[in-house]
Amino acid sequence: MSLEMKYNLKSPGVKRLMREACELAEPTEEYHACPLEDNLFEWHFTVKGPPSTEFEGGYYHGRILLPSQYPMQPPNIILLTPNGRFEVNKKICLSISGHHPESWQPSWSIRTALLALIAFMPIPSSGTIGSLDYTAEERQILARKSVHWECSNCGKIANKLSTVKIPELTQEESNFIKQIALKAEEDVNRKEVSNEELNDNLMDLQDTVQQRSASNGTYTELQTSTVDPKDSELLNQNGIWNAVVGILISAIVLLILRRVFFL
Ligand SMILES: [Zn+2]
Repeated sequence: MSLEMKYNLKSPGVKRLMREACELAEPTEEYHACPLEDNLFEWHFTVKGPPSTEFEGGYYHGRILLPSQYPMQPPNIILLTPNGRFEVNKKICLSISGHHPESWQPSWSIRTALLALIAFMPIPSSGTIGSLDYTAEERQILARKSVHWECSNCGKIANKLSTVKIPELTQEESNFIKQIALKAEEDVNRKEVSNEELNDNLMDLQDTVQQRSASNGTYTELQTSTVDPKDSELLNQNGIWNAVVGILISAIVLLILRRVFFL
């Protein structure tokens, strides 16, 4: 049965998906997506790794699951090709995907979701759902391997794209891609600032404890290692940070008590 016969063409979601299927029918050099033969609400897509990144030369294939309320609700994107940036077989978190329905606009489309996916690939994962933190080398190896990757439904994915340039981005789409880049920059800056603050706070506490010790005429060595950026996420968690502060305060109190009672 053809898709036209299977679905109620008066439904706005069906009409919209039929229109998008027509618009996306021709493969481009950056992306291609089409509905499964027997299900208009599941699509398979292929995107090309963005140039000048560790994904360059890679082909990435996945599923798009459309909610029955599409386009009022966002599509869910699941990657199938191992890539080192997003977990495979798991709904991934783009600010526009199903994990953040509040930021989705009904005027956005499957094409917008694919453009966002490509824009998100080189951006640091910052621990969001479905994200992976592989090294650049590991991602390059996966990009090379992806050329031979095959989908059980669609076949070899490297053959799914063409040399046709993508239609020009609308104003809305380019604003949206800019927002993704800005958001990523903010995330990176925020991470750096919190590391610096953490180091400053630890140094201040170390100074305070050493001053107290010096005034006591006793010698205390407090070991404060510098904060590795990898550890900062852990330390950022309030519980651990509170524990560190608690231990340092206890040390100071002990030193004061020692002075009062033993000198
Ligand atoms: Zn497929």
